[in-house]
Amino acid sequence: MKIAVIGAGTMGNGIAHVCAQNGHDVHLIDLNPDALKHAKEVISKNLDRLIKKEKISEQDKTDTLQRIKGGTELTQLVSDRELVIEAVVESPQLKAQIFAQLDKDCPPECILASNTSSISISQIANATARPDKVVGMHFMNPVPIMKLVEIIRGYSTSDETVQTVIDLSVQMDKVPLAVNDYPGFIANRILMPMINEAIYSLWQGVAGAEEIDGIMKLGMGHPMGPLTLADFIGLDVCLSILRVLQDGLGLDKYAPCPLLVNMVSAGKLGRKTGEGFYKYN
Ligand code: NAD
Repeated sequence: MKIAVIGAGTMGNGIAHVCAQNGHDVHLIDLNPDALKHAKEVISKNLDRLIKKEKISEQDKTDTLQRIKGGTELTQLVSDRELVIEAVVESPQLKAQIFAQLDKDCPPECILASNTSSISISQIANATARPDKVVGMHFMNPVPIMKLVEIIRGYSTSDETVQTVIDLSVQMDKVPLAVNDYPGFIANRILMPMINEAIYSLWQGVAGAEEIDGIMKLGMGHPMGPLTLADFIGLDVCLSILRVLQDGLGLDKYAPCPLLVNMVSAGKLGRKTGEGFYKYN
């Protein structure tokens, strides 16, 4: 399939990697040339890991990298694509603007997918004249490792569009699970309240961070405790998703813990800033 991935950050480079490794022709597009350079380096390193584990050969790596063409020119690079997967920053305004542009520049039959964690697919689709061909493909981080793709069916998404992205996900050795378009979909609607409750427990002094994480790891078999996971996702991202849940579902039970709000205001965003619930080097 001829695929374009828009945004070459954490998620975009992983999505481009997985598509190319499974034989698809990929155009990876980012406004920032440094992000494209960095993405190629990350993909190359991740492929080296797979070679070390004897999952792919040197030739597979060469072929995968050859299938990825990077560039900054959106209009030109999407003009012959069958599927576009958007993975730019989580901003409703920016996504609407990009989808309106894609609608003009892509062939009429091209499917437009978004990797958004929480923005309404129906709202994004509304920026186009092809809402039946707009769908959510919510990959998990790190994309080359995590099996799930949460497929989000917007209000007007056609069954054919949903089936196409389900088939593609299976072909790429992922497990697609389809859900309807409501705030937070399923993954974040269930995950974020758990993280928020862990933060409330810390704030109220019920237990320390290591105890909270240890209890959820050892007691529930979670691979990572909720506070460690929040640091990994980014506390700003957790806060913005909780606000989407609170506003979209109109329930105070999703209100973000004041400690989370304070930490984000103080710039303690987790791993990416070197400090969140834990300190990182
Ligand atoms: P990121 O900040 O790592 O990368 C975003 C990239 O988009 C950057 O390289 C930036 O230069 C580029 N960009 C910004 N505006 C652009 C434009 N107009 N045209 C082209 N490129 C542009 O972000 P990320 O963590 O990869 O997240 C991307 C999307 O994936 C978001 O919607 C996020 O909610 C979602 N998501 C993230 C995670 C995660 O764990 N990081 C998990 C699932 C879904």
